[in-house]
Amino acid sequence: MMGSGNLNQFEGRFMTNEPMSRHTSWRVGGMADRLYIPHDLEDLKLFLGELKEDEQLTWIGLGSNLLVRDGGIRGTVIATKNMEDSIILLKGGLLLAGAGMSCAQLAKTSVKYGLTGAEFLVGIPGTLGGALAMNAGAFGGETWGVVHSVTTINRRGVERIRSKEEFNIAYRNVELGKDEWFLSATLKLKSDIDQNGKAIIKDLLNRRSNSQPIGEASCGSVFKNPDTGEPAAKLIDKSGLKGIAIGGAVVSEKHANFILNKEDATAEDIEKLINKIQQVVKEKFNVLLIPEVRIIGTYMPEGTSSNG
Ligand SMILES: Cc1cc2nc3c(=O)[nH]c(=O)nc-3n(C[C@H](O)[C@H](O)[C@H](O)COP(=O)(O)OP(=O)(O)OC[C@H]3O[C@@H](n4cnc5c(N)ncnc54)[C@H](O)[C@@H]3O)c2cc1C
Repeated sequence: MMGSGNLNQFEGRFMTNEPMSRHTSWRVGGMADRLYIPHDLEDLKLFLGELKEDEQLTWIGLGSNLLVRDGGIRGTVIATKNMEDSIILLKGGLLLAGAGMSCAQLAKTSVKYGLTGAEFLVGIPGTLGGALAMNAGAFGGETWGVVHSVTTINRRGVERIRSKEEFNIAYRNVELGKDEWFLSATLKLKSDIDQNGKAIIKDLLNRRSNSQPIGEASCGSVFKNPDTGEPAAKLIDKSGLKGIAIGGAVVSEKHANFILNKEDATAEDIEKLINKIQQVVKEKFNVLLIPEVRIIGTYMPEGTSSNG
């Protein structure tokens, strides 16, 4: 996959045949051929410069919205989660942050800077890059609701500043060009005149731990809420699916839109459970639930077992 370069020149962490279960919050997923965690932007560019032109690339953050199939991922995965990312306060309520920064850190720092509007990000266990790609949201807030502009990078390491208006922003989805990924974002926030930020953060974290199985292996909400009618969790609950299991994958009793990896589930168990929920809810309510979670990678080859 690499050109003439020497791996020793990179400061990041390079791994081969790396289990994706180590890089996803569901703790499932087969091996990535290669996985790289860049140290910083310069290092990322150096690494990209050494890739073969046709190397298949998969970009991830903290893997908190990913189901990686048991056959793993061909090519190279770039994980921005531990990248040395800065957060800079600019004039006029603008905050510039790197895509590898965690949403929690971003929310807390924005409050420290006396800004309001990004508190909702506090309990979302992903990176800013993932939040941009997913248009992550919670408690009425949405990532792109506070974005002013972003910088993207392509596989040749070329950076590009793009305004919010250039994107097609949808519920839990934002389209990016092929071979283009988020590098940073400038958020437009308001001055927190009432200085309520810390209290808002505390309240949001409390509300989350009261309603969600925090601390268990999951990807958060599996399905998007349908456009009309009741939320996905309600439909799943009313279908009597709370607690049902396939292999080690179980529908949470606390929040019906969460699937937990309870007992060494495989990605196959989880995908089967996703399909089962879709089928039952469709039969009962004639609503097709669409997964919010991104399902990637290959199946195990025919005749082999996910359980090894
Ligand atoms: C307990 C729990 C609670 C959650 N609560 C919420 C919630 O309240 N609201 C919500 O919206 N989500 C929630 N999630 C889901 C998840 O945290 C969010 O979708 C988050 O934004 C994903 O970020 P990530 O860095 O983990 O992305 P990943 O899971 O690593 O990737 C998700 C997608 O983003 C793409 N991506 C990642 N980084 C980049 C980048 N730099 N450039 C381009 N594309 C990129 C990936 O290719 C992939 O398609 C929850 C998850 C868990 C486990």
